[in-house]
Amino acid sequence: MTTHFTDPSLDHISNKVQAGERLSFDDGLTLYNSPDLLGVGSMADGVKRLRHGDRVTFVVNRQINPTNLCVLSCKFCEFASKEGRPDAYVLSEKDMLDRLSPDLREVHIVGGLHAKWSFDDYLNVVRIVKKNFPSIQIKAYTAVEVDFFARREKLSYADVLRRMKEEGVVCLPGGGAEIFSERVRKELFPFKIGWSAWADVHRQAHKLGLRSNATMLYGHIETLEERVDHLLKLRGLQDETKGFLSFIPLAFQPGNTGIVQRPASAVDDLKTIAVSRLMLDNFDHIKSYWVTVGEETCAMALRFGADDLDGTILEERVMHAAKAGSPVGMAKERLSRLIREAGGVPVERDALHRDLETAAA
Ligand code: SF4
Repeated sequence: MTTHFTDPSLDHISNKVQAGERLSFDDGLTLYNSPDLLGVGSMADGVKRLRHGDRVTFVVNRQINPTNLCVLSCKFCEFASKEGRPDAYVLSEKDMLDRLSPDLREVHIVGGLHAKWSFDDYLNVVRIVKKNFPSIQIKAYTAVEVDFFARREKLSYADVLRRMKEEGVVCLPGGGAEIFSERVRKELFPFKIGWSAWADVHRQAHKLGLRSNATMLYGHIETLEERVDHLLKLRGLQDETKGFLSFIPLAFQPGNTGIVQRPASAVDDLKTIAVSRLMLDNFDHIKSYWVTVGEETCAMALRFGADDLDGTILEERVMHAAKAGSPVGMAKERLSRLIREAGGVPVERDALHRDLETAAA
């Protein structure tokens, strides 16, 4: 990599990256504060290329959000509803099955914390999918939901996760992490779990052989220091368990929350992808989630360190409840074209990030 930076403070970091040295908290802040977006991006692109070359993966998947009824009222959430409101819903078995087809590789199941649902009701969603579409891999329930089931049934996280695995769950989504800052948690989601419980759920999942993903919700009231701290917490946990498949930065969708006026800029989105790629040296995959950043920024992110685009999705309610501007689904051909236009080679994968040919073997 021979990059000429317009910001000289990047030279030192570039030397460390080229020497394979781990970046520090201060390095993370320097990257975020640098006005040289292209310099930061080219460093991250270099790291991505060393790991993955031109390959960009995606999965043919679909989301099932079984209900939006939720006992919590996180300030940033426009998805959750309460009993009796016109937008409240609970999907029937038929509703769920109508969303699935045998060509799907992955179904991603997350939803609200329903006041009257038992853990078994949530497991039943998994059973319905498994029984009718045994070939679809199931990625289900965030750490927030796992904690809810555990408290409701007075079970340990390990017991809850073991039951989920027995029913056919292969990995956990990364949601519910938001930002691991107690200051932000107290302000925006005081009744939801924080870093310590989120980490423990993933730690227990990894011990049981379940893989999982990790996210960071950015672009609300968090500081850059809190973002870098979030990344370092995840890097430490990955050192310990090696169970994370991917990291997904999620751009906050302000909708009608009033928390901020507009979503993070494309510059912030791209820089966040690049900083994540550079700081998370022990994560194989950095995902650019087109649902939150839109197709155009997502395609550019493939030159800023991202190597995965998530999936076709087809229907997504959580972000679109907050008026995410992206389409609700993308056909496989369209995703492939997007990747090729950005100079990448599209590779279809499964929920565990195995190439399809490998996965089928
Ligand atoms: S973010 Fe999750 S836990 Fe919080 S209100 Fe929304 S659905 Fe409920």
